[in-house]
Amino acid sequence: MPLPLTRKAPAKINPVLEVLGKRPDGYHELSLLFQTIDLHDLLTFEPLAEGLRFECPGAPEGIGPDGSNLVLKAAEIFLGKYPQKKGVLIRLTKNIPVAAGLGGGSSDAASTLLGLDQMFETGLGPEGLREMAERLGSDVPFFLRGGTALGTGRGEKITPLPSMPGIDLVLVKPEQGLPTPAVYGSGKARFTGGECTRQFLELSREKGLSYLAGSLFNGLEPATFALLPETWNIKRWLLEMGALGALVCGSGPTVFGIARSPDHARSIAEKLRLPGRRVFVTRTIA
Ligand code: ATP
Repeated sequence: MPLPLTRKAPAKINPVLEVLGKRPDGYHELSLLFQTIDLHDLLTFEPLAEGLRFECPGAPEGIGPDGSNLVLKAAEIFLGKYPQKKGVLIRLTKNIPVAAGLGGGSSDAASTLLGLDQMFETGLGPEGLREMAERLGSDVPFFLRGGTALGTGRGEKITPLPSMPGIDLVLVKPEQGLPTPAVYGSGKARFTGGECTRQFLELSREKGLSYLAGSLFNGLEPATFALLPETWNIKRWLLEMGALGALVCGSGPTVFGIARSPDHARSIAEKLRLPGRRVFVTRTIA
């Protein structure tokens, strides 16, 4: 195996996110669709004589190389299971905006597990890593395989789905981040009964992209709009510029728009760029 090992940790969007109810353990019961996109962080894994070292050059505030970083947490869980394994230096390059609803931290954690499994030749694979992933966060199990998938429970129970058609996207992330607990705790989420997920799945089998775009749904959107009204404006602008559909990503505040082509995505992105705002032209990946 060529070393150092490099892995991409992709971001995700949720074309459908339904909040079904509140659970006795304080979490919410969800039904959601996950889709990986071509915006990614990079992780490298290099052997060391001993110990665990983590570096995140130019790390955005709040995710420095300390114990709260999900990469370090994932590595500690993995190496706790295999104490006989020798050392590793993990380097993370962040491209995915933090606390943006794009799942960057969860994807980094899953990539760390996959990278260590590969480097130390422990042969666990996504299935063998699932329990460790669940301990790290609700979105982490999805990123062990990526692609298109249905999530239930807290989002950690994953059913892989056939790949969606390639979709050109514009992502717009306002300057301010939104912590996920604040969005759930706002009391403004809209509860539904799973019908949006079912409709989306039916249309994705039978019809084309424009139908998919018309079936986007996110029950957290009213909460995100209330906490950060700029997100409502971004969605409106995306639709006015001809996006086939637009939706807040997860708990936000990033909003994605579905473009008709890569050129259309680039032309929308040019118009929405502002100082402080981050705008990406990207695409879904299988
Ligand atoms: P979620 O919806 O899972 O809370 P998100 O997609 O909105 O996440 P992330 O970028 O994953 O946002 O960050 C969530 C929190 O996780 C951040 O506030 C950050 O402090 C913490 N965190 C820990 N490790 C990382 C990492 N490697 N990358 C990004 N955030 C991290």
